[in-house]
Amino acid sequence: MRIVKDLKKLRFLLDEARRQGKTIGFVPTMGYVHEGHLGLARLAKKEMALSVVSIYVNPAQFGPKEDFKRYPRDFKRDSSLLKKENVDILFVPSDNDVYPQGYLTYIDVEEISQGLCGAFRPGHFRGVATVVAKLLNLLGPCTMYLGAKDAQQVAVLKVLVKDLNFPVKVRVMPTVREPDGLAMSSRNVHLSAIGRREAQTLYIALKAAKKAILRGERSSATIIRMIKSIIGSQTNGKIQYIACVDVNTLKALKRLKGHILIALAVFFDKTRLIDNISVRIHESN
Ligand code: AMP
Repeated sequence: MRIVKDLKKLRFLLDEARRQGKTIGFVPTMGYVHEGHLGLARLAKKEMALSVVSIYVNPAQFGPKEDFKRYPRDFKRDSSLLKKENVDILFVPSDNDVYPQGYLTYIDVEEISQGLCGAFRPGHFRGVATVVAKLLNLLGPCTMYLGAKDAQQVAVLKVLVKDLNFPVKVRVMPTVREPDGLAMSSRNVHLSAIGRREAQTLYIALKAAKKAILRGERSSATIIRMIKSIIGSQTNGKIQYIACVDVNTLKALKRLKGHILIALAVFFDKTRLIDNISVRIHESN
């Protein structure tokens, strides 16, 4: 695995790979690597001739009161885990290369960035869209690999790719979970022992909601009440939002139909966790 920090070096290596007709798979991450990231890297490695993973904790996607400084970082551990997967290139850009002095250009993917997490993290998806657009321009991958855990990010980036004609395919992988169901996340390391135990309830509540829908429940309000009551009765978590939306448009649904995403964000102390589950309703009414 080559660790590349320099933009010119990166361009040289990727231009060379393209000249040789190699396909390039790209996995953008913020590091503190876990099995969710490694699954994406493994798939990129399997499907493409050249796999590139980036690690960049993007300041533009954190609000002024958010956890940019506290975000976990461990480059040594990350690079050794990625090396074990035989990732070809680990790209680690510097702040100065991503946002050099005088940087002025940002990308807003409208509407779809506004609800769910976007409603509580103003500017977050603007930061995500901007950095991913830059990385796509720098790397020119054939396929970008994303995780379903960040469902709104997936929806926003699919629109970005379509609207700005990036010649890249987006592949989405299912959420990788701990044995008790907690979605893997770099932020899980910040959970207290009690928070960690309670956090498994998020997926338990999402699964119960999915079951209720598959049994015929069609009221979004009832589903949201149900999840609230499970989390409220079994944890000290502070719910930020619970929503039932259309999987592609992220528009809120009152009556559940089609392909639905149930998404939530809950704080355990200072640690904000997100999770989601999707449900497909097969019926004509
Ligand atoms: P992050 O480092 O948290 O920005 O995540 C980098 C990529 O890994 C994103 O596409 C995430 O959706 C994906 N990812 C993060 N956690 C998981 C997980 N538990 N399962 C699958 N993909 C994940």
